[in-house]
Amino acid sequence: MSTSEILISKSALQNNISFINSTLNESVTLSSVVKGNAYGHGIPQVVPVFEDCGIRHFSVFDYFEAKIVQENLQTDSTIMIMGWLPPDKVEDAIEQGFEFFVFSTFRLSFALDAAKKSGKKAKIHLEAETGMNRTGLKPDTLEKAIEIIKQNPDCFEVKGFCTHLAGSESIANYYRIQNQINQFNSMLSFLNKQGIHPEKKHVACSATLTAYPELQFDMVRIGILQYGFWPSKENFLHHIHDKSQKKNPLRRAITWHSRIMEIKDVVMGEFIGYGNSFLAQDNMRVAVVPVGYANGFSRGFSNRGRVLINGNRCGVIGMVNMNMLTADVNNIPDPQIGDEVVLIGEQGGIEITVSSFADISDQLNYELLTRLPHNIPRYIES
Ligand SMILES: *Cc1c(COP(=O)(O)O)cnc(C)c1O
Repeated sequence: MSTSEILISKSALQNNISFINSTLNESVTLSSVVKGNAYGHGIPQVVPVFEDCGIRHFSVFDYFEAKIVQENLQTDSTIMIMGWLPPDKVEDAIEQGFEFFVFSTFRLSFALDAAKKSGKKAKIHLEAETGMNRTGLKPDTLEKAIEIIKQNPDCFEVKGFCTHLAGSESIANYYRIQNQINQFNSMLSFLNKQGIHPEKKHVACSATLTAYPELQFDMVRIGILQYGFWPSKENFLHHIHDKSQKKNPLRRAITWHSRIMEIKDVVMGEFIGYGNSFLAQDNMRVAVVPVGYANGFSRGFSNRGRVLINGNRCGVIGMVNMNMLTADVNNIPDPQIGDEVVLIGEQGGIEITVSSFADISDQLNYELLTRLPHNIPRYIES
């Protein structure tokens, strides 16, 4: 048995997908973003559930994640690589029918060679640089790319034209985003004038879908909403401000729990754990839990985090170790070795949310979730 487990609620995932679907215009494709091991939820666990919900399009960051998604497909869903595709894997990606972003003529030339070798067309999404200044083709490189594509009609299928917006989760970025959209539209009409009409234009992530629903184009790439989280507090407020029911339509799917490994009585005046960061001000009882920073529980939660034991909130006391933390169980009636310890989730009607971690450290939801180690076993529950 592992020192902790992650449970994923199927009904919560289904709830979130139906909510997302309810916000989509007709015939807009939902591409399910499952990079970062499905935001820590586990690609093998969530992909079949999402397919059961009718999703047929998955987005990943790299080739290796694409392979894991592929191993867990039950249908012929499309897999799209948005980021890293090593040059020596381009040919296999084409063989497998993976779609991938092209954001440089460098990648385009590898795709061209690989397509010639494999005799199959490379299914590409041209990514436009519109102001994020990360990856993407600027107008002059787009022009070069179009030339290469037109010279090799048997090698390419232009599946999409896309960009990524720099911060739709905050209104502070409003003008920057408007400029990006203007740039996107002008590059798109240039592309169309050159006779290239990509099947899917797409720009929206979770924050964009919430704050700028008019930017759905043909497809949206949705990550964090699927797992039951808003990209930012502001984004959630944006969602509810014009709703009569001020209710969160999303449900957290993840629960992370462990068990008490040891219980210890400590005498008043002693320090607990490494160093002297926690002094027992009274005789007290502490529980040792076999989860530490190597298991995804950040050292930043030393003396600040909370866990749930027997339906009570217990403070993390002392420093979080590599593989252990200690919790104050002084006020808990009769704690026992083996009792459940909830790190994220609900117990006895109270809850530790993922965002509470963000409140006491500067870890975003995104970061905490994706840093949950791959080797924690993950189970789907109904
Ligand atoms: C991660 C990512 C998304 C999804 O972002 P969410 O905020 O989780 O919805 C969409 N597009 C690109 C290019 C991404 O890298």
